[in-house]
Amino acid sequence: MRQTPQREGILRALNAADRPLSVEEISSRMGEDRSGLPTIYRNLERFIKEGWAENILGQDQVMRFVRCNTNHHHHHVQCESCGRMVEVDFCGVEDSIRQLEISSGFRITRHQLSLFGLCTDCQSAEKRH
Ligand SMILES: [Zn+2]
Ligand SMILES: [Zn+2]
Ligand SMILES: [Zn+2]
Repeated sequence: MRQTPQREGILRALNAADRPLSVEEISSRMGEDRSGLPTIYRNLERFIKEGWAENILGQDQVMRFVRCNTNHHHHHVQCESCGRMVEVDFCGVEDSIRQLEISSGFRITRHQLSLFGLCTDCQSAEKRH
């Protein structure tokens, strides 16, 4: 896939981050390839459609974006203490969703799962206290 400098800059910013970034944060990390926020939004929408990124609405109601390394179905887990986010390359709830389809009569076409917890670093920091 041919990438424009803007697209490369956005992917670089997302790749280098270990947590979801807001559009403003992405813009400030793009350096010379920096472009206007509407352009960044447009590119992010395409990345999401193509499976390169996901959008995550924070508890502060700010929309942030995270890079996905797998383009098949997966989830992310975020540390509530430091904000770090890690991709988990499996789902684990398929069976429950099948049950839900049977009991609701719906055909479930997609789902999102928000997982929060404490990362290993924050767990050991907690133990030290
Ligand atoms: Zn993802
Ligand atoms: Zn943490
Ligand atoms: Zn899933």
